Amino acid sequence: MPTLADRLKNVSISASAAMTQRARDLASKGINVVSLSSGEPDFPTPLHAIDAAHAAALAGDTKYPPLDGTLALRTAIARKFKRENGLDYDPSQIVVAGGGKQVIFNAILATCNPGDEVVIPAPGWISYADIVRFAGGVPVPVACKQENGFKLRAEDLEAVITPRTKWLFLNFPNNPTGAACSRAEMAAIAEVMLRHPDVWIMTDDIYEHLIYDDFEFCTIAEVEPRLYDRVLTVNGASKAYAMTGWRLGFCGGPKDLISAISNVNGQNSGGTSTITQAAAVAVLDGPQDLLKERAAIYKQRRDFVLDKLACIEGLTCHKPEGAFYIFPSIAGLIGKTSKSGRKIETDADFVMGLVDEQHVATVQGGAYGMSPFFRISYATSMEKLADGCARIAQFCHDLK
Ligand code: PMP
Repeated sequence: MPTLADRLKNVSISASAAMTQRARDLASKGINVVSLSSGEPDFPTPLHAIDAAHAAALAGDTKYPPLDGTLALRTAIARKFKRENGLDYDPSQIVVAGGGKQVIFNAILATCNPGDEVVIPAPGWISYADIVRFAGGVPVPVACKQENGFKLRAEDLEAVITPRTKWLFLNFPNNPTGAACSRAEMAAIAEVMLRHPDVWIMTDDIYEHLIYDDFEFCTIAEVEPRLYDRVLTVNGASKAYAMTGWRLGFCGGPKDLISAISNVNGQNSGGTSTITQAAAVAVLDGPQDLLKERAAIYKQRRDFVLDKLACIEGLTCHKPEGAFYIFPSIAGLIGKTSKSGRKIETDADFVMGLVDEQHVATVQGGAYGMSPFFRISYATSMEKLADGCARIAQFCHDLK
């Protein structure tokens, strides 16, 4: 029999995608499932993005794109970095790809040799470790504990850096905890990195605009300009502009790194859809009011879910500063047994029990590198959140 590549042996199927599929399977049997597992905005893409895509298609903007992105889009991204982040990136220091995920994938492929270590704050987005392993690198988790507000502490970071460290990943606001870093917290991380001049820093700022209670987003290249030449600032249209299906991510960074990423881009795609790029110019240069309007709605939902979860015995929650996730601990429920006789020994047992018995889909913390927790996405309607929280309360109440 023909065989598959060994590199696939270390790469898993995302637990959130698996849970979303399980929810779909149950729903297709006519079961009323509340899905709180998917990490995507429930809002529509802004109409002006759709209009710009339509106009681009009609105008014949349908040929192969430049491999690093259209100049119009890279210029709009340069303006975004300046306006929102105080960062100066020339359009030649910017690459566009098919989602933040592809940006990260291409950056790692462009830089990681077998055995290179990549420091990843845990819990962290499932794909980081898989992408690193795909490139033959070694993911090195650094725990961001609940008692520290799920933030990366300087001393914990310092302890995991070795001569083999190639990258530090940062993702605040964070998936799955929603934790964000203040300027002082970011400055402390930056200070550690100043002592390690051979390490690149990738900051995944995809949840930049989902931040609440006047908490101010900051990004490391702006907080510590002396790191500018080693930082890759990654962002995209998916979460801010509800454009997950359009597949648009981008990054700014030092020229040599950018041209290496561009090189990989040129081999694993023929560039990013011209239609999508036209839509991205429209949202980046267009009215930004929707960002604040939507953030206000997410904040209401976050507060609502936190209130409901606070009443459930056995769960403890940290109040997240951003993103659209809550990451409760279920430490108080481990060892109990569900109504149908399922023993809850791990967070995976908990989320499986919850979906099978109360038909609420969530994701186990273990998938993000921290147990025993589970991730709730509140990127859904208040009605669904109310229903979902009531069912979670019932499930926990029934545990004996
Ligand atoms: N980074 C993080 C932390 C994410 O949660 C996601 C999406 N789940 C992405 C990057 C990728 O987003 P996209 O590829 O849609 O831009």
